[in-house]
Amino acid sequence: MKKAFERAVFLDRDGTIIEEVGYLDRPERVEFFPWTIDAIRVLNRAGLAVVLVSNQSGIARGFFTHDVVEQTHARMAAMLSEGGARIDAYYYCPHHPDGVVPDLAKACSCRKPARGLVDRAVEEFNIDPARSFVVGDRWVDIGLARAVGAQGLLVRSGYGDTQEHRPPDGMKADAVLDNLIAASSWILGKL
Ligand SMILES: [Mg+2]
Ligand SMILES: [Zn+2]
Repeated sequence: MKKAFERAVFLDRDGTIIEEVGYLDRPERVEFFPWTIDAIRVLNRAGLAVVLVSNQSGIARGFFTHDVVEQTHARMAAMLSEGGARIDAYYYCPHHPDGVVPDLAKACSCRKPARGLVDRAVEEFNIDPARSFVVGDRWVDIGLARAVGAQGLLVRSGYGDTQEHRPPDGMKADAVLDNLIAASSWILGKL
C-alpha cells in the first residue's frame, strides 16, 4: 500500500546531502556532511516525505553506469539507517543532451530544473508540491522549486557559497542557509 504523505522535502544529493566530489563514480566515495543524518532524521520525525532528486548526467556521458548510482544510493541508505534516518525515495535523471550513451543523450523532462522527478514523487506518494520544499546547492534546485510551486532553499555547502552570489536573472531563493541542518530547522518553523 502506498504511504500517504502530503508534504515533502526534495533534497538535492551532491553538495547538499553528500560532499561534492565532481562525478561520483564509485560508491565508496560517498561522504555525508557531519550534519546530514541528523538533518534528515529531523525531517522524518516531522512526518515529511524525504525524496532525493538528483541530476546524474555522468550516466549519459558514459562516466559511470546506473549500477554505480544504485549502489551509491544503497550505501547511503545503509548509512542513514544506522543513524535512524531514512530517505523515502531516490530519484535521478540519467540524461544529458551532450551525452554519448544512446537513448540517454537527449533533452528530457526530468533533468532539474525540469519537474519530472517531482512529478514521479507526486504520483508515488500523493504529495502536494505547493506545500513542499526543495533544498539544494545550485540555482537549478531553486528553479525546480519554482517549476512546481514549492519553497526553494539554497544551501551554502557544495557549490552554494559561489552560487549564492550568481543568481540567474530574477531568481530568488525563499531562504539562503548555511547547510542542510539549517534548512531542516527553517522547514520545521514553517510547518
Ligand atoms: Mg548539488
Ligand atoms: Zn532526464
